[in-house]
Amino acid sequence: MQPVSEIFPLLTQPKNVVITFHQKPDADAMGSALGLYHFLRQLNHSVTVISPTNWAGFLSWMPGCKKVLDYEMQTSKATDALVKAEWLFCLDFNTMDRTRKMADIITQLSCIKILIDHHQQPQIEVFNYGNSDVTKSSTSEMVYDFIVSSGHCDKINVEVAECLYSGVMTDTGSFRFSSTSANVHKMVAHLKETGLEHSQIHENLFDNFLESRFRFFGQVLLNRMEVFYEYNTALIAIPQIDLIKFNVKTGDTEGLVNFPLSIHGIKLAAIIIDRGDERKSSFRSKDGFDVNAFARKYFNGGGHFNAAGGKNSEPLEEVVRKFRIAIKENKDQLSSY
Ligand code: 5GP
Ligand code: MN
Repeated sequence: MQPVSEIFPLLTQPKNVVITFHQKPDADAMGSALGLYHFLRQLNHSVTVISPTNWAGFLSWMPGCKKVLDYEMQTSKATDALVKAEWLFCLDFNTMDRTRKMADIITQLSCIKILIDHHQQPQIEVFNYGNSDVTKSSTSEMVYDFIVSSGHCDKINVEVAECLYSGVMTDTGSFRFSSTSANVHKMVAHLKETGLEHSQIHENLFDNFLESRFRFFGQVLLNRMEVFYEYNTALIAIPQIDLIKFNVKTGDTEGLVNFPLSIHGIKLAAIIIDRGDERKSSFRSKDGFDVNAFARKYFNGGGHFNAAGGKNSEPLEEVVRKFRIAIKENKDQLSSY
């Protein structure tokens, strides 16, 4: 993988570009992609954004979101764009399998592949150019740096700003996590100067849910949460029946894992959700516990040091059993706080 700066001189030559990101995109995946989309269009590139799967309704207000193709629902249109692509930007994921059913086709494409991402252990051998930096708060911050370093700072208009702000704000936990560097605040100051109305964005992202989501939270916090004080760990294991009963939609479980993490003394919080086709897990930690390594070792996943996820094909009870064994095996680290 060559440094991404090598493509800067080529940015002014219009190309067919596809931008993609990880399945079930969060605001950083969607925001970084749409920020890059609005930037590249100003340089006269022909740009298509493709999501591997559907996405949460609270992302739909983002400028350009209506044009994003859902690979699972619009496979032939998306495939046409992929086949014509000269450049493929891969944002906010580290390994091709994070694009689910798109993984095979994008791995096989012979076009130039460019990675911009902040996850650990990227599959660098499959990318021609890229920037992988785990110290960065978000992929949106990296897209901002990409635009500025390529000499096109003047192209950061309010549309670009709204998209990039969404990603950096959510991936830093509203500027709370330690990844919130001086560069992040300088970037946000610049985004504000474009006319960005940040409080409207918080409202769009956080105040857009249905009552049923909170009834669901009530159900799982009351009946599905287990606290292992001995291990400073809390787990919420959610059977499919809860998802059905409360009509849980894509994006509704976002943020749920932060509730057990905010219990006094808890250093590892986990949710394991039975999504029917697979058991999807989310892990969050505080202090020195590495959930990237934990998710890799036991749950076929990965992510960041303090935020990671995984997936298992076994039944929910089996994955929960694995989790109990895993925390026992990590007892020394978890109970030493
Ligand atoms: P979340 O728990 O919010 O879904 O994800 C937390 C972090 O872990 C994100 O950075 C996400 O990209 C990563 N992640 C989530 N699920 C998986 C997975 O199944 N595999 C890998 N490699 N990373 C994941
Ligand atoms: Mn991210």
